[in-house]
Amino acid sequence: MATQILQKCSLCFATARQLGTLHAYASRRYTSHDVQTADIVISGGGMVGAGMACALGHESLLQNRRIVLLEAAPKKGFSLTEKYGNRTCTLSPASVSLFEKCGVWSKVENMRCQKVLRMQVWESCSNALISFNPTDEADEIAYVAENDVIQEALTQRLEEMKDRIEVMYNTSADSVAVPGVDKELASNAWVEIKLNNGQVLKTKLLIGSDGMNSLVRKTCQFHTLSLSYNQRGVVAVVKIDETNNNVAWQRFLPTGPIALLPMSSTAMSLIWTTSPEHANQLMSLDEESFIDAVNDAYIHDRDMNSTAGQVSDMFQKVLQNIMPGGVAMHQLPPIITGVQSGSRGAFPLGLTHASNYVRHRVALIGDAAHRIHPLAGQGVNLGFGDVIKLSEVIAKAAANGSDLGSLTYLKEYETSRQRKVLPVMATIDGLQRLYSTDATPIVLLRSLGLQATNALGPLKDYIIKGASSS
Ligand SMILES: Cc1cc2nc3c(=O)[nH]c(=O)nc-3n(C[C@H](O)[C@H](O)[C@H](O)COP(=O)(O)OP(=O)(O)OC[C@H]3O[C@@H](n4cnc5c(N)ncnc54)[C@H](O)[C@@H]3O)c2cc1C
Repeated sequence: MATQILQKCSLCFATARQLGTLHAYASRRYTSHDVQTADIVISGGGMVGAGMACALGHESLLQNRRIVLLEAAPKKGFSLTEKYGNRTCTLSPASVSLFEKCGVWSKVENMRCQKVLRMQVWESCSNALISFNPTDEADEIAYVAENDVIQEALTQRLEEMKDRIEVMYNTSADSVAVPGVDKELASNAWVEIKLNNGQVLKTKLLIGSDGMNSLVRKTCQFHTLSLSYNQRGVVAVVKIDETNNNVAWQRFLPTGPIALLPMSSTAMSLIWTTSPEHANQLMSLDEESFIDAVNDAYIHDRDMNSTAGQVSDMFQKVLQNIMPGGVAMHQLPPIITGVQSGSRGAFPLGLTHASNYVRHRVALIGDAAHRIHPLAGQGVNLGFGDVIKLSEVIAKAAANGSDLGSLTYLKEYETSRQRKVLPVMATIDGLQRLYSTDATPIVLLRSLGLQATNALGPLKDYIIKGASSS
């Protein structure tokens, strides 16, 4: 009892000390009535920022802390209609587990999502293909869900947790002052965030989840690698005849990969990566011509390289003899019969990577830290991987009674995530380049590589496990 009273007193003194310091800042830089404090501020309430808020809301060690989520956009109204959203994500098993832990997954399932039980990847320059089937037939590779559904499920969960997480919609961080960057701030001062409504929030830890043009990343002056693929991702919701739709199909064309992901027994999500000129053309086609273009992209053999085709056919026969179970049969995706009106859209594609994800009192997550090509459907999953690790290190700091913005803990987050993100990023960037050429030696090399990988069960299991772990 005596210890508890002493702890409470020392907390009061610490808080009084802290407030004193804050008022000193307040009088120097702002009028005091505009200044508020929070233990953690998350700037950016997209899927990753809202996921972070839910994860922190579930940490029992953070129950008495003030956690604020800022979102520049207004709160979106959402109602499930027959029309599907044209932006989708393939959620890995690790992301699904995070959602289960935070009470978000049941909401996604109650709205809609579709299991992916198999995946076939092949190319247009040869007959080489790889097919992923989980070892256990009941296991799914991933789930496909609309971004709007995921965002709505997170919004509903945050609404249920409003006593623990404050969400400020229509509120953007207009400028940020970070100790160590802003010369006016003492080295251990709190981060100061000026909001668009004139208020100032001071926090021990600012989490930047404000997307690819992150203000938080820019303010921290992290060296950032940014490149454009000079490609667009054309998306649409396409229709098929009713079928047991649980296979994801991806074909590499010299212009970029085209993917069809299952959404329901009659709908698929199309993500077609191509040149800006071709994307413009696809966007301007009438519906019938667009459907023809998609079906043609999956079946045409105009890119077939005869030398690579012959060698890879021979290699396939050899593999069939030595590993009879390892050779997958080539299948074709269902024929597209329609396109949901108004569902076509085109997005520029690029790569962004911050050399650091943290500094004292600041951490970046999601696209603010790393943005990758969507060809492997890993972007948001890497973001949710950040959420899992960062909430773990914050909880550890809280359990040890340490400063939540301490670099010691944040560095653990950065090291762990860069070990995961960098190899994924390099592999995806490499695949993107490898498949952007139709030069015979490269086509030959990649075709044989794909066939050999397909025949080697343990290697495929390793790839699936890697993609599942976020
Ligand atoms: C065509 C395409 C297909 C894709 N498919 C997949 C897929 O299948 N699987 C997958 O895992 N990933 C996929 N991705 C990637 C995925 O969409 C992104 O990785 C993900 O949306 C990033 O989420 P985020 O929350 O980090 O950033 P964002 O979605 O950009 O959210 C940032 C949020 O911050 C807010 N904000 C910005 N500035 C401020 C500020 N100053 N103050 C307050 N709020 C602010 C914005 O309003 C926004 O809500 C795809 C991407 C594209 C382009």
